[in-house]
Amino acid sequence: MPELPEVEVCRRGLQPEVEGQTILGATVRVPRLRLPLSATLGETLAGQRVAAVRRRGKYLLLDCRGGVEDGCLIIHLGMSGNLRFVAPEAPVGKHDHVDLLFARRVLRFSDPRRFGLVLWQAADAPAHPLLAVLGLEPLDDEFTAEWLWAATRRRAAPIKPLLMDSHLVVGIGNIYASESLFRAGISPLRAANRISGERYERLVPAIRQTLSDAIAAGGSSIRDYVHSDGGAGCFQVDCAVYDRAGAPCRRCGGSVRQIRQAGRSTYYCASCQH
Ligand SMILES: [Zn+2]
Repeated sequence: MPELPEVEVCRRGLQPEVEGQTILGATVRVPRLRLPLSATLGETLAGQRVAAVRRRGKYLLLDCRGGVEDGCLIIHLGMSGNLRFVAPEAPVGKHDHVDLLFARRVLRFSDPRRFGLVLWQAADAPAHPLLAVLGLEPLDDEFTAEWLWAATRRRAAPIKPLLMDSHLVVGIGNIYASESLFRAGISPLRAANRISGERYERLVPAIRQTLSDAIAAGGSSIRDYVHSDGGAGCFQVDCAVYDRAGAPCRRCGGSVRQIRQAGRSTYYCASCQH
């Protein structure tokens, strides 16, 4: 499933290709993905200039100007979605659900499992409910140790599932939560309100670094990501604990443990993380 780093790499790949370009129209081949697709998407997008390509959490946002109404095209890759450029005459596969038509090529959204989204949001409408509930961006300046410490004083839940709560902070998926906690030396089982400010001073940079490393790992494959076959897999991140149950901890040599938390697998080292 594409996580924040994959979506950010996708955004960075798309930005120079579509910013300033005009969308000529759209082809919609299915009535719905996770939510219904607008039957008039093509008319809404025709003549729109892409003013900016932004990201909020795992949503890609294409700010559009100059068409019938200003607004934003919201794209979510869901579990299995991807975007890639194809030639206008490229054959259409059965999972190719939406095409955005540009002058000489097509930006094609494919999604075998159809959990993705392609939504139009008019500029003068209230914030979309899907976006309005999102917490802080972990790579933004507002996401600090002081903020996280203050936000968790009344939260007795274990820290690991809290880090994955998008109402608090967005985009820290299962892999990155486990890896960040290992880097910070904090047990995933530790109650969030029992973690000191000093330890959050280690955790927040660990989260930023883990995500940045993944983005950097993906950066080298940007061209593959949006230009060729568009395989939207996870990046090869060098994981210290994730998916290494029973393997030796790289710091102490002890065994990496695997447990279940909130229905997800958590990996950690009980000697290095407290
Ligand atoms: Zn260890």
